[in-house]
Amino acid sequence: MLPFKLIYSDDYFLPIGAHVFPAEKYQRIHQRLLETGVAEPQDFVAPHPASDQDILLVHTPQYVQKLKTGTLSAREELELEIPYSPELVRAFWLAAGGSIAAASHALKDGVAFNIGGGFHHAFPDHGEGFCMIHDVAVAIRRMQRDDKIRTAMTVDCDVHQGNGTAAIFAGVRVPTDPLPSVSSSTVTAARPAKIRNAHAGDVFTISLHQENNYPAWKPPSSIDVDLPDGIGDDDYLAWLDNALCSGLRQFESELLCYIAGADPYREDQLGGLNLSIEGLKKRDELVFRVARARGIPVMVTYAGGYAQKVDDTVTIHCNTVIAAKEVFGDK
Ligand SMILES: [Zn+2]
Repeated sequence: MLPFKLIYSDDYFLPIGAHVFPAEKYQRIHQRLLETGVAEPQDFVAPHPASDQDILLVHTPQYVQKLKTGTLSAREELELEIPYSPELVRAFWLAAGGSIAAASHALKDGVAFNIGGGFHHAFPDHGEGFCMIHDVAVAIRRMQRDDKIRTAMTVDCDVHQGNGTAAIFAGVRVPTDPLPSVSSSTVTAARPAKIRNAHAGDVFTISLHQENNYPAWKPPSSIDVDLPDGIGDDDYLAWLDNALCSGLRQFESELLCYIAGADPYREDQLGGLNLSIEGLKKRDELVFRVARARGIPVMVTYAGGYAQKVDDTVTIHCNTVIAAKEVFGDK
């Protein structure tokens, strides 16, 4: 049995028809984890849907009302990039409930997974980029409301910038000195990545993403690492290490929310980075090791993954569980 819980429901499936987002990935991850013996049935915990009150900790009443009554404008639905349905609304409420459960279990066990979620492009008043509800933000605000945590840090390793996360948690912005960057010898890409830094409020947001990709407008996170196209494993890991260390020097966090997107993978259809499956697992291990060394509980969500072969996306997501087992298994 795993020393941590995996929050999962078959109803995480998103009813969006034929789509670049492989909505069946959650079921396939669940199945693979069981088939390969990485997890046992008792490791899984079924989520409850978030309450409307939970959703309203992050989203505006007007937006929630539109979702519940099916009255998004054509433009709003277009921006969401997935077809609206009441079933889809239920799936997102459930994903948010799953992230609340993952946060709660992480605080008890040191780490927990939502085998779903990570919808980091949702804003308080609208959804976009396949994200209707920001489940991670809902989980953080719920933990804060329940006085379980005061502060949190998001570490977003999806290939796309966490624009919703940045907008939701925007703190007071004051100019800061540039961060010490990694030594130039560790960065061999044609053009170095750029790191941007802004002060946080009660939630510190880190995003490592491909600069030349969606979203076009990237509201500032506490730390943004704008990576050039085609960056590989070693450079990526150096930048991640640098961003994590800088973030944890600046901010004391009581919960780390790891958004473990599978789309920095070199064969991703919507990504332009060049990470290998092994490199992505090292990425997961790095996040877990850093958090564990500092005693910060980690909740994991999955976000994007659009590999040409859905099997690869499933492998990358399953590897995140294996990495956690390796790092947290010997406690
Ligand atoms: Zn993505």
